[in-house]
Amino acid sequence: MKIGFIGLGNMGAPMAANLAAAGHAVTGFDLAAPMPEGVTKAGSASAAATGQEVVITMLPNGAILKSVARDVIPAMQAGAVLLDCSTVEVDAARDVAARCAQAGLGFLDAPVSGGVGGAAAGTLTFMVGGDATAFETEKPLFDVMGQKAVHCGPAGNGQAAKICNNMILGATMIVTCEAFALADKLGLDRQAMFDVVSTSSGQSWSMNTYCPAPGIGPKSPADNDYTPGFAAELMLKDLRLAQAAAEAADADTPMSRAAMALYEQFVEQEGGAGKDFSAMLPRFEQRPRGG
Ligand code: NAD
Repeated sequence: MKIGFIGLGNMGAPMAANLAAAGHAVTGFDLAAPMPEGVTKAGSASAAATGQEVVITMLPNGAILKSVARDVIPAMQAGAVLLDCSTVEVDAARDVAARCAQAGLGFLDAPVSGGVGGAAAGTLTFMVGGDATAFETEKPLFDVMGQKAVHCGPAGNGQAAKICNNMILGATMIVTCEAFALADKLGLDRQAMFDVVSTSSGQSWSMNTYCPAPGIGPKSPADNDYTPGFAAELMLKDLRLAQAAAEAADADTPMSRAAMALYEQFVEQEGGAGKDFSAMLPRFEQRPRGG
C-alpha cells in the first residue's frame, strides 16, 4: 500500500520501518526525528499525506493530532483512511473522525499496547475504533505492525479501550507495589509472596508478567534498575486521559483517580520521571504509613 507516516519517534519509527520492510511504500514526516530505514522523507505533513491510500499518525497528544489532522485532511485523496495510533482523548479521536467523514475520508483510532519493544518486534496490540470496512481494509497493516487488532466499535472506542485497560494497569501496579512493601515489613519473603499471589486470586499482569520486585518472577524493568519499559510519565498521561473521559461521561472512578494522584506526585515531586512505572515499589519501601 501507499502509506504516509507522520510522527516517527520512539514508537512510530520502528512501526514505519516494519511497514517498509514488508514491502509497503512509506513516505514519512516528523518535525525532529530522522527517517527510519526504508522510509522516504517528505518536506511537510501534507506532502507526506498527498496521494496515499492511508495516512498513519503516531503523535504525542490530542492537541498535536488535531493540528496535524487540519493540515493533512485537505491533502488526502477521497476514500483514503487516516489511521491514528497515538494515545489521545476519546473526544479528540471523535472530533478528527467527524472531520474526516465530512471530507469523504475514513478514520480509525487505533492506539496500541506493547511499548517500544512491541513496536520493534511487530507484536503490538491494536484497539481499534471506527468503521468496520476501514478496519478490514487496514487489517494487513495491523498484521505487519502487531500480533492482534481488536475492533472495539465506532470511532473513539479504541481510545476508550486503551484508557480502561491502562487505568486497571495503573491501579493494579500500585497495589502490587504496596503489597510487596507491606510484605517486607511483615517479614514475608518476596519470593514466597510471588509464588503465592501469582497462582492465587491476587494474580495480575503486574505481578505475574511484570513483577515490580527485582529478582522475582520473569525478567522485568525492576531487574534493570527500573529503566523503562513503560515510563511513569506515560502512565500518568494515560491516567489523566482516563480521568478526563470519566469527567466527561459522569463516571465515578475513585481507584483510578487515586492512582492518577499518586503517579502525579511520583512524577512531578519525587523524581519518578524517566523511571519505569513499576518503580512505585522502591517509593513505597522508603515511606512510613501515611508518609
Ligand atoms: P515520541 O515523543 O518518541 O514521538 C512522537 C514524535 O512525534 C516525535 O518524533 C515528534 O518530533 C513528532 N511530532 C510532534 N509533533 C509533530 C508534528 N506536528 N508533526 C510531525 N511530527 C511531530 O513518542 P512515542 O513514545 O513514540 O509515543 C507516541 C504515541 O504513542 C503517544 O501518544 C504515546 O502515548 C503512545 N504510546 C507510547 C508508548 C511507549 O511505550 N512509548 C506505548 C503505547 C502508546
